[in-house]
Order: sequence, then structure tokens, then C-alpha cells
Amino acid sequence: MKGICILGATGSIGVNTLDVVARHPEKYKIVALSANGQVDRLLEQCEKYQPEYAVMANKKAAEELESKLKNKNISTQVLSGIDGLETIASLPQVDIVMAAIVGAAGLKPTLAAARSGKRILLANKEALVMSGQIFMDEVKKNNAVLLPIDSEHNAIFQCLPENYEKGLAESGITKILLTGSGGPFRTKALSELTNITPDEACAHPNWSMGRKISVDSATMMNKGLEIIEACWLFNTNPDNIQVVVHPQSVIHSMVQYSDGSVLAQLGQPDMRTPIAHALAWPDRIESGVEKLDLFSIAKLEFEQPDYERFPCLRLAEESIRKGGTAPAILNAANEVAVASFLNNELSFIDIPYIVEQTLKNINSRPANSLTEILEDDLAARKEAEQLTHLRVKQA
Ligand code: NAD
Ligand code: MG
Repeated sequence: MKGICILGATGSIGVNTLDVVARHPEKYKIVALSANGQVDRLLEQCEKYQPEYAVMANKKAAEELESKLKNKNISTQVLSGIDGLETIASLPQVDIVMAAIVGAAGLKPTLAAARSGKRILLANKEALVMSGQIFMDEVKKNNAVLLPIDSEHNAIFQCLPENYEKGLAESGITKILLTGSGGPFRTKALSELTNITPDEACAHPNWSMGRKISVDSATMMNKGLEIIEACWLFNTNPDNIQVVVHPQSVIHSMVQYSDGSVLAQLGQPDMRTPIAHALAWPDRIESGVEKLDLFSIAKLEFEQPDYERFPCLRLAEESIRKGGTAPAILNAANEVAVASFLNNELSFIDIPYIVEQTLKNINSRPANSLTEILEDDLAARKEAEQLTHLRVKQA
């Protein structure tokens, strides 16, 4: 029996994880769950899964959850804040940590899981984007096992040979082909992008996801973050990664080999597949995902990425080439800009503008320590907020 901790249990990935876990009560036990502010949602999950621990992001929400649990005679212990998250990610009875908090908030607890040598199911790509080197070093040093949940990286992992860690070139790999749907605005007239609403941006053609990653998919910053994520996970650089726009989202990514072979992983656009894969790896378990019917799909299409329509792709590539804290600055500016867009303060096309200006105005430096990364993250957030205020005034 494997003990599981889900960081971000109430989100899209968290709920999908619980769905897969519930199909295998003889294999997995939920030990701990966490949420940001959704007390009633987490209460419901505690009723159903009876975890030993539940963590809310702040004290007030934790107190509310505690009293509601008491009323229902549920003995789950409630903790709060980053300390609480770090505690549940490191519990000895936890074998597997699902890192599914969105954004920079997930960094510290995910690092705690690495330091405790857990099997980490990594959905929280922002954590890796911010602190790639430090995170990968901690994984190695503590014999943690890092398995990608992002569907593309999970697909790439499935297409790589067992010993790929000796180096992609040494394994005969010539390119990683990172697929992306192109989001909801792949073919929309550029002039119409100015008036996009948050709901339009969040209406992804193939995937149902949280609002932040949905906007990232619409700007293709998501693909940019995924290039950075792939560089760290597979120890490579952007020269070896080709983004392939594939509107059907059936091929989740591919690996090209020197002998001309291209291996691909296909499946429904349903996150329960990568979640089940990483939970059971190297075994395979039932995920509840509908079987792929190639006859009804009939056609798969591929296109070059459009760097003019999606400047975030270029910005992300530039930041990982620059290295150091540049990706953390990119990520922080993007988090601020996306939140402002979702709040109806900023227009859709201003998102890359805010990110680009922040990268110009905040100097990056070598990412030697977590302190330096978090300092530059904070400086970038302040700068992006200021730029946003100016933009709002101009409008
Ligand atoms: P979501 O918004 O649906 O859920 C986020 C979860 O994190 C929620 O449980 C929320 O309560 C928690 N949370 C948010 N802010 C927090 C904070 N400050 N402190 C503590 N907890 C906080 O997001 P999601 O779509 O499930 O995505 C989660 C992560 O997985 C993201 O990093 C995203 O990029 C990645 N991811 C998601 C998908 C997908 O299909 N949804 C696919 C690939 C990768
Ligand atoms: Mg993805």
C-alpha cells in the first residue's frame, strides 16, 4: 500500500488524481490533502478519503475547516501555510507526492518532497521553471524519483530509452518533438485578440484545466514553460526541442532518433492517463480514460509554431538560454499578468508585453540559491504590477 499526499487536491489535477486513486483502494491510501481557500471542497474530500492530514493555505481557512471537520466527527488533523505543506510533503508514511499547486506557491513544498526522497509526480511546472538546477540537484542528492505529469513530458518520458540520463545524444536522440494544440486562438484574426475575455481564453478546445494554465495555453506561454521544463527534466537545451503544433491533441509528444525512428505517445486528452502512468510506473493501471478510437479521429495535423502570434514562446526560449534567474523572472511576470487579465484589468495582448518589459527592467543573475531566486521572483512581481498599473491608466 502506497501513501499519497496531494498538494493542490481541489484543483483540476488534484481531482483527477483522486479519481484514479479511488479506482485502486488496494494499492493507494490518501494520507494528506491540501487546498488554497476552498474549505468546503476540501471538507468533502476529507469526508470521502479520510486523510490523516489536511492543509489550508492560511490560518483562518484552516480554523474553519477544523471546526467543520469536528462537527462531522472526522479526525483529520488540520495544518496551515507553507510549513503545513512542507510537513505533509515529508511525512514518513507518504511515498508519493502529487505536486499540483499552481504557480510559485508550489515551489517550497515540492522541494520538501525532493529533500525527503519521495516519488514526486510533478504537475507544478512553475516550480521547475523557477528553480530547475536546485530542484534537479535535490532530487538526485536524495534519491527522489521525479515523474512528469504534464502530458507532453509524460509522453516524452514514455518514448525515451531507459538509460536516457547518460545524455540524449549518447542515447541516439536527435530531437524532442514537443506538441501543443495552439490553444483557442490559433486561427483567430490577430486584430481580434485585443478584445478577448477571460472566459474565451479559458475555453480550451481539447483540455479542461485550471484558469491560469488555460490562459497560458491561449498565449502559448504554457508551451514556453514546457520547453524550459523539458530542458531540466531531460537535461537538454532549446536547440534540441522542436515545438510542433498539433490541433487534435492526440499525440502528446514525440522523440526522434538518429536512425530515423520517431516514437510517439498517443491517447485521449485526459490527464488521468499521465497520472495513472506516474502513479504505477513501471507498472500500468486502469485510469478510467476512454480508449482511443483512431477511426473516429481519422486525421492528425501538424503545423509550425507561429512566433509572431505567440511572442511568449520566444520570451520563454530567450529566458532559458539566458539562464540563471531569468526563467523565474519570466514566470513571476507571467503570473502577475495572467492574474490581472483574469481580473479584467489587462487585455489579452498585454500579457506578453508585461512579461517582455519585466524581463528588460529586472536584471537576472546566476540562480545560486533559493533566496536569490525568490528575491528576483519578488522584484519581478513588483515590476510587473507597476507596469500593469501604468497600462491600466493608459487604457
Ligand atoms: P487549478 O487552479 O485547478 O488548481 C490549483 C490547486 O492549487 C488548487 O487545489 C488550489 O487550491 C491550490 N492552490 C492555488 N494557489 C495556492 C496557494 N497560494 N497555496 C496553496 N495552494 C494553492 O490548477 P490545475 O489546472 O490543477 O494545475 C495545477 C498545476 O498543474 C499547474 O502548475 C499547471 O500548470 C499544471 N498542469 C495542469 C494540467 C491540467 O490539465 N490541469 C496539465 C499539465 C500541467
Ligand atoms: Mg502540458
